[in-house]
Amino acid sequence: MTDRPTVITVAITGALPTKKDNPAVPVTPDEQIESTHEAFEAGAALAHIHVRGPNQEPSSDPELFERVGEGIRKHCPGMIVQYSTGGRGRDQAQRGAMLSLRPDMASLATGSVNFPNSIYENPPEFVEGLAREMLANDVKPEIEVFDVAMLYNAAALVKKGLLKGPAHVQFVMGIPNALPARRTLLEFLISEMNEVLPGATWTGAGIGRHQFEVNKWCLELGGHCRTGLEDNVKAARDRLAASNAELVSMVAEAAGEYGRRPATPQEAREILGLAPA
Ligand code: ZN
Repeated sequence: MTDRPTVITVAITGALPTKKDNPAVPVTPDEQIESTHEAFEAGAALAHIHVRGPNQEPSSDPELFERVGEGIRKHCPGMIVQYSTGGRGRDQAQRGAMLSLRPDMASLATGSVNFPNSIYENPPEFVEGLAREMLANDVKPEIEVFDVAMLYNAAALVKKGLLKGPAHVQFVMGIPNALPARRTLLEFLISEMNEVLPGATWTGAGIGRHQFEVNKWCLELGGHCRTGLEDNVKAARDRLAASNAELVSMVAEAAGEYGRRPATPQEAREILGLAPA
């Protein structure tokens, strides 16, 4: 039997981590392209991108997204580019501003949830508006499930014709006030997903110290994996890994123990139903 491919996502930057938290967090477009390239060589097939302004603050500037996306396409042949529509406060008009650049994918949280010190606000009208824009620009959403209701909300979007099946879902576990990192919960979510979103593919993301544990559950349960400094900025302090590439290597190396291997970009595109690069 040959090993089954797993799509490794690298979330290189995120909305919150700064150089102060970890000097390896890439914040300028050049740093982001270089960090993605190293992660690509380590086995990542999908890059999840936030961009930052001049003071490392989260930005919605489509020009920055375009520079990073172009650099990745040039240096990482075939790698899937996914732009984040989250992590930029409450200005909803800005959050989808870069969808017209037509990245391969964009994140779509299908509900609101409490984060450690804030509310991540995604009201119904806004979710539908973003879904419509993604559909119009031929951008495949990654449904971000931060709380259980979001899974069923995604199924409702399919019914309304705002989300094409098969969907791709990401279960985010380990954020205080949101879903805990519990394997029983992940197994429940997968079984519910299989019922309400038939044929869907899925990734699990563990936040902070849960990252590698969730990676291993995903490898074992047949899912795809997400790692990167966005979710685990203290990896260096905890002597786990000092860069995005090292975090990707940990997943790539663990994969074999579960009969898995990193998907190539081409395989990742087939698995997620995306057009060839
Ligand atoms: Zn993100």
